[in-house]
Amino acid sequence: MSANSFNPYRMAQRQFDGVADKLELDEATRSLLRTPMREYQFSIPVRMDDGSVRVFRGFRIQHNDSRGPCKGGIRFHPQETEDTVRALAMWMTWKCAVVDIPLGGGKGGIICDPHDLSLREQERLSRGWVRQLARNVGPLSDVPAPDVMTNAQHMLWMLDEFEAIHGQKLPGFITGKPVGMGGSLGRTEATGYGLIYMVREALRELDIRPEDTKASVQGFGNVAQYAIELYNQLGGTVTCVSSWNQSDQCSYSFRRADGVQLEELRGITDSFGGIDKGRARELGYEVLDGDAWISQDVDILLPCALENQVNAETVQGISDRVRLVAEGANGPTTPEADAFFADRGIFVIPDFLANAGGVTCSYFEQVQSNMNYFWSKDEVLGKLDDKMTTAFHAVSDLSRRRKLYMRDAAYVIAIGRVASACSDRGWV
Ligand code: GLU
Repeated sequence: MSANSFNPYRMAQRQFDGVADKLELDEATRSLLRTPMREYQFSIPVRMDDGSVRVFRGFRIQHNDSRGPCKGGIRFHPQETEDTVRALAMWMTWKCAVVDIPLGGGKGGIICDPHDLSLREQERLSRGWVRQLARNVGPLSDVPAPDVMTNAQHMLWMLDEFEAIHGQKLPGFITGKPVGMGGSLGRTEATGYGLIYMVREALRELDIRPEDTKASVQGFGNVAQYAIELYNQLGGTVTCVSSWNQSDQCSYSFRRADGVQLEELRGITDSFGGIDKGRARELGYEVLDGDAWISQDVDILLPCALENQVNAETVQGISDRVRLVAEGANGPTTPEADAFFADRGIFVIPDFLANAGGVTCSYFEQVQSNMNYFWSKDEVLGKLDDKMTTAFHAVSDLSRRRKLYMRDAAYVIAIGRVASACSDRGWV
């Protein structure tokens, strides 16, 4: 599958079909689960700051709600497609099921590049997305959240629009809100921290001490930054980080053999995770090409950017030293690269398990918002650690017992739970 013909939805369906065979799912359950239950596509006209009107394309796809209201983020991305959103919605269903939270899967998006939009234009776009969907989403049906290039401010504008339309305060409509405005402490850290809770558990199983490890990270957005923060606290060293460069329209990897300095890099990074190349050089970082992060001499790879980054081509450059891959991004690894990892005996913590910390904390936020009572950060992170650690061991035990590749073991648990919910409800 070359990078150009890559279709994440086909990949998600291919992964599903493999596990449906293992679970011997009946035909009706297969056809229900391999496609989304509902899809919304719409135009969003936005008055731009110069007085002109631009029309954007928006999506919300609800894959399955047999276990609870749909849940999942909204991405702002110029390369967004309906098939990307379909795949991401499907992965959300498995993600909520594998960590056993009572939610289904959904995803939304708008084809746009927020780098080119003023804050006021982004506000109008966010409100426009809600206006098109106000009757089809809500605290009891479908609860959005941030994703690639969206943040707490976008969520608050969306909540405000939703509440204005419905004439009520409904803070459980959306998660990832600012703290103090219905947001949960710990939500910002949750995806990155959740990833490292699982890395910690995997290293324990591999009998490796975190302080003896080095890691290379793809991406420097929210997930990557908090993953690096906690991994450093465990004693690990990150020697390479890659990030997207908006002006050159390509990514670069930033390497420092004795370890990248998180706070220093944060100081030269824009709000979308783009590291300033010139200033990084001045600070003594080697600037390498965008794919260099994957071929570093490290023990752990953390792909925390977009889908299709670890594929048949890029996987060839992986060092023999790599023992663990933990996927902070959604869909970073193609089935061809999975075959390579399985062959080499590399321990993989698959995306919908590894990055489930975000949605798990969103679930906590929803609970807190609905009861209008907020917990301390320690309480939130303690509950998050419990959920992630329990889910990790359930998957890794099954993987060992049934000799399944970790991704397949996670799928067997998640798809099994969703299939049972559909059958218990009498849908299939
Ligand atoms: N966008 C995040 C994800 O892909 C979080 C979703 C949520 O919190 O609902 O898991």
